[in-house]
Amino acid sequence: MKNVNAIVANSATAPLRTASIPRRDVGPNDVEFEILYCGVCHSDLHTVRNEWSAWPTVYPCVPGHEIVGRVTKVGAKVSRFRVGDLAATGCMVDSCGTCPSCKEGLEQYCDTGGTAFTYNAPDSHGTAPVTYGGYSKSIVVKEHFVLRVSDKLSLAAVAPLLCAGITLYSPLKHWGAGPGKKVGIVGLGGLGHMGVKFAHAFGAHTVLFTTSPSKVADGKRLGADEVVISKNADAMAKHARSFDLIVSTVAVSHDLDPFVNLLKRDGSLVLVGAPEHPHQSPAVFNLIFARRSIAGSGIGGIAETQEMLDFCAKENITSDIELIQPGEVDKAYERMLKNDVKYRFVIDMKAL
Ligand code: NAP
Ligand code: ZN
Repeated sequence: MKNVNAIVANSATAPLRTASIPRRDVGPNDVEFEILYCGVCHSDLHTVRNEWSAWPTVYPCVPGHEIVGRVTKVGAKVSRFRVGDLAATGCMVDSCGTCPSCKEGLEQYCDTGGTAFTYNAPDSHGTAPVTYGGYSKSIVVKEHFVLRVSDKLSLAAVAPLLCAGITLYSPLKHWGAGPGKKVGIVGLGGLGHMGVKFAHAFGAHTVLFTTSPSKVADGKRLGADEVVISKNADAMAKHARSFDLIVSTVAVSHDLDPFVNLLKRDGSLVLVGAPEHPHQSPAVFNLIFARRSIAGSGIGGIAETQEMLDFCAKENITSDIELIQPGEVDKAYERMLKNDVKYRFVIDMKAL
């Protein structure tokens, strides 16, 4: 075991601090890499502040699951990585590997409940009570959960693809976003701006729903064909019964009915935002009278995450980021709560 510096939350209310955390020795199937950049996801904020009652936070907590860096050591059985390669890890570091979901490459839905998330999940190696994430100098990850990234893209701007990117890429693919489809993305934050980029890249007619009039121009620049201010009932009504798919990234509970009403017959509203409190129950008749669905989606499997990273390298897609220093994360969280992020904070870990 060795100790490395990390940005640590010691309680739901204390400011983040730099502290030392343990990392396990590199096992035969492990890759160790120095973390160069780590994105700041709203899930980090939910976890640091212990907002998810179904998944209580164990302190000390080290968030971060948009992790990119350079390999420093590999185990004897590792075949895909060498010292000096670029490497990345997203929201998962392990799963059972044998259940039907894992065999289908959907490790995030491991049927045994064996998905080990990158932080605040029981640490099966016993290095610490829970897994510690990417707000740290280095990490040791089982090879299967380490992704390859292109050296042609800005590495800092690649980091958010590991969560924000795959969380939108996966449902857009699964629900068939493409030419001839009208697709809505709700919320222009970290996840939402990647949703706009991917829906546009897949050739769908892309509509951004935002509560922030100041984001209209950016929405169009990022790839939206239309931008609708979701608080404006008349603007919303113009799109009634017209969408094949709407993906909501909103991080707080809100009324779903205005969005359900915009779906065509057989359309789907897919929730990826994970608010502290449940949404109020949707009106059932709006679903019944057009055979509409409300669904959820969680990140994406490892194979699909690699596919997404390769697609981004080919299409030159990255996140729009604001690079911050390790001491600025609390400030970044406050700005995130004001919907003031353009459009993902990324921590320059070299400075830690
Ligand atoms: P974020 O950067 O803070 O973006 C959320 C956006 O939601 C805001 O920028 C804002 O966009 C919109 N919004 C905020 N308050 C709103 C309100 N009251 N009504 C309507 N819209 C509102 O957050 P993020 O990092 O993208 O994460 C979003 C959510 O997804 C979080 O709950 C996170 O935990 C969850 N998440 C889920 C998964 C998954 O696998 N399902 C993965 C990662 C994250 P506008 O200013 O444009 O309105
Ligand atoms: Zn995330």
